[in-house]
Amino acid sequence: MTQLSTIGPVYGPGESVTRKTGSWRIRRPVVNLELCVKREGQACPVCWVVCPDMSILEVHRGVEVNYDYCKGCGLCAYECPAHAIEMIQEGS
Ligand code: SF4
Ligand code: SF4
Repeated sequence: MTQLSTIGPVYGPGESVTRKTGSWRIRRPVVNLELCVKREGQACPVCWVVCPDMSILEVHRGVEVNYDYCKGCGLCAYECPAHAIEMIQEGS
């Protein structure tokens, strides 16, 4: 019988932590903290909630992106109500 457990980059429970999926990215999100409402202390979990990779990190005044795991899907930029996240080409 064919083993299907080796299809894809994650082979077993908990292994996703060791896979730096950020290397898959062709565009990366860049946060403009001047526009981010969290900079003013307001609660805004939108980008944190929509990120499928848990790559948005809440910091004291705003958010940061964990580029080790962010795959560059662009959901955070699309959903940000303040238009504070821009997707830019990797390498530019
Ligand atoms: S969704 Fe936009 S405004 Fe809200 S925390 Fe994220 S970057 Fe800031
Ligand atoms: S681009 Fe996608 S994976 Fe990267 S931080 Fe935004 S929502 Fe998460």
